[in-house]
Parts: sequence; structure tokens; C-alpha cells
Amino acid sequence: MSHRDLPFGVAVLFVLSTIGLPASAKDILIRNVTVYDGTGRAAQVNVDVLIKDGKIEQVSAERLKVGRAQLDDGTGKFLTPGLIDSHIHLPGGQSGSVVNAAERKMTMDKTIGTRALHGYLYSGVTSVYDSGNNTDYIFAMRDDERRGKITSPRIFAGGGTVSVPGGYGAGASAIKVASFEQAKPELDARFALKPDMLKLILDRQGMFANKAVPTFTQEQFKRVVDYARANGVRTTVHIAAEWDAETAINAGVDALAHPVVRSVANDAFIQLAAEKKTPISTTQAVFNNIARVADDPGFFDEPLFAAVMEPEERDLGKGAERQRYVSSGMAPMFKLMVPYATDNIGRLHKAGAVLALGTDRAFGPAVHQELELLVKAGISPFDCIRIATLNNAIYIGRQGDLGSIEPGKWADLLLLDADPALDVKNFRSISAVYKSGVRVDLAKLDLPINRKK
Ligand SMILES: [Zn+2]
Repeated sequence: MSHRDLPFGVAVLFVLSTIGLPASAKDILIRNVTVYDGTGRAAQVNVDVLIKDGKIEQVSAERLKVGRAQLDDGTGKFLTPGLIDSHIHLPGGQSGSVVNAAERKMTMDKTIGTRALHGYLYSGVTSVYDSGNNTDYIFAMRDDERRGKITSPRIFAGGGTVSVPGGYGAGASAIKVASFEQAKPELDARFALKPDMLKLILDRQGMFANKAVPTFTQEQFKRVVDYARANGVRTTVHIAAEWDAETAINAGVDALAHPVVRSVANDAFIQLAAEKKTPISTTQAVFNNIARVADDPGFFDEPLFAAVMEPEERDLGKGAERQRYVSSGMAPMFKLMVPYATDNIGRLHKAGAVLALGTDRAFGPAVHQELELLVKAGISPFDCIRIATLNNAIYIGRQGDLGSIEPGKWADLLLLDADPALDVKNFRSISAVYKSGVRVDLAKLDLPINRKK
């Protein structure tokens, strides 16, 4: 649908009333830009990109006619798809212990959530998948995003996780499966909310080196995965150990919410993951942050963190949360495990597995940490572009709409001042962020950097 032929006032009213559709007021021509399209195709140099009705219309080596489009000069700049994080937990839906899920309380703080979402946009992230949250809260936020009520990256969400009674992650928002029959009504109620993807928990050790905890039997797990698929819902799974990851892949889960982190994975597992092409969310940032925060919480003061995170939030990260990570034993344990995860990520990539950038954090700058950690695992900056874009669209099952700069896809884009294929740090040199072809006004986001002015 085009608004170009309407008088200005009518066009504005039309845009405001078009609930559910993006406010694509203008067509945009990005002229003379270097494109990394996200598919793994080599750079397309000095091309024109035309955006029409919020979607990519054309990528052309010939100069295109401007017509009524807004002209954005891309000379000397680089265009990539907007970054996607396939593993976040949006803040504002739960409060209490970061360590013990059972101690968390459900909240509905949309201000905290909206500010975090603004932080993702400011960091160049145009889509997130929330991998477990207060169900009512995250679907309310997703609704606000889809209705255009908030400025936000696209929100994909599953609601609370699916675990077993007493299992890891079996907090207040979780569906606790004692038996399939007992859980079926709750699963049906969840499917009625149209989750983009459901997250299950398969972990018999819990995350924190505690005593063994109950988890799904193989049969139960497969039954829930099959039932979700029968209802048109994708599944992802929290795993940490190789045997659980293997069980999940063999049960037909659609994605893994973490790589194997408890040990160096066997070659047979790397092979299996590569053959099945099950997308794996990389989540190096969470392991690394928890390990690193014990000795070096200084990253919370880096410019990008200071720009988007509230001072009290950063103080919490450096203070109480850090204390809990240390006293719970998580920090020393993650210090041991980080090298395993890094090694596994590098080998998965070399073997041809589908890695998808995820952070398991609640703040946008973590995406840039994740990119740097992927390079540390031996992955080239060029390959990181696809891992942070199209592979994540595949993870969420939305590769038909998102994740690459190809005709017909939503124009969720990142315009950069420096070449991200030379150095992933250049993903921080953000010149513009577009969602559905609308340039996000970064100076108007509700963030500390804008409040200072
Ligand atoms: Zn998580």
C-alpha cells in the first residue's frame, strides 16, 4: 500500500490509524552504498537500494531514479541487515534473584522494558527473540510493538519456558510438565497466545553445579516438541551438556538456545549438528559476562553501555549481581566452561553448523560483545555478518521476511560508517538504523545518552 499520493495531513492520519502495519511514510533510496546482504554473498560495491512500502524493492548496480523517494546518501558507507539477537530476556517482567528462578516474582514494568528495547535499537538490533519471560508481560510488549505503540525492535517471544516440576528454570512463569496429559491444557492455552517459538529446558544438572535436578525423559521431551510442531509452533531448548543437546536434536527440536558448554564436544556431536543444520544460539556473552564480572566488571562503563544502560542498572551489574554470581559459584564455574564453549563454537562453524548470534542478556551492547567473542572463536568478521542476521532469522523461522537485503524482505537495515567485514567493532559505527524502511530517530530514544543533552 502506498501513501505517496495522499495529501500530507491525510497521509499522517492514515499512518497513525494503520494499526499492525509499519509506519512506512516514505520510500527511501539509499544511494551508492556497499551492501553485505547477510546471505554470505560477497560485498556489492556502490549499489543503490530502493525501499518501498517498508520492504526492499531493489538492489541495483545501476543508478535508480529517485522519484518521490527520500534520498539517503550511502557514499563511503556500508549497509547490512539489522542485527538480530536470538536469545534475550527482556527486563521488566520479573524481579528478584538472578540466580534462583524459584525466587523470582512476576512484574509488569513496561518502562524498564521499553528502555531496554530502545537500547537494542541504539545498538543496531532490529529483532529480538525473548527466550523465556513472564508470559503476560512479554506478550503485552510484543503486542505493543506489533501495534506500533512503542518504538522497538521486532519482538518474537515464547512466554514462560517449559520444564518439569523442580527442574531447572521451573520458575513461576514456567509450564511444569509432570506428564503430557497434565500439561496439555497449559500448552494449549500457550499456543492460543501464538508464541513465535517455545523454549523447553533439558538439563539434568541445573546450571549451577548443584545436585542433579529432574528433567524431561526423552519420550516426554519428544512428545512436547511434536505437539508444538503439530500446532505450528517452533521449539528451542536450553541445553548445556552434550548428551542433552544430542537428545534434543534427535527428538527433532527446531533450534538450540545454547551451544554445548559443559565440555569440549565430541566430533560426533559436531557432525550431527552440522548435518541436521539445527540453528544454535551462540550465547558467549552470558558465559563470558558471568566469568568476567568477578575480576573485571569495567565493561559496564564502556561508552555503548553508558549510552544505553541506566546508571543504577550498571551499578547493579557491578555490585549486587556480581556478588551473587561470585557467591553462588557461577563465576568460577563459567571461567572453566568459557574455553569449552569457545572451542565448540569454532568447530561447529568450521563443520558447517548454523550458528545464530544470541547473548542470553538483557541489554543491546551485549550483541557487540558477542560479535567480538565469535571472532575470538576463530570466525571471520565476514561470516559473523550472516550469523548475526540471516541465520538468526532462520533460528526464529522468519527467513522469508527478515535477515537479508533481498527484494521482498522487510527493510530492517543498518547503515555503518566503517566496514564490518574488516572488524566487527565497526558494527558500533552506526550511521542509521531502519525498521520496516523507517529511519529510527536515535536521538529521541529514551536513553541516558539522550537525557544528558
Ligand atoms: Zn536464557
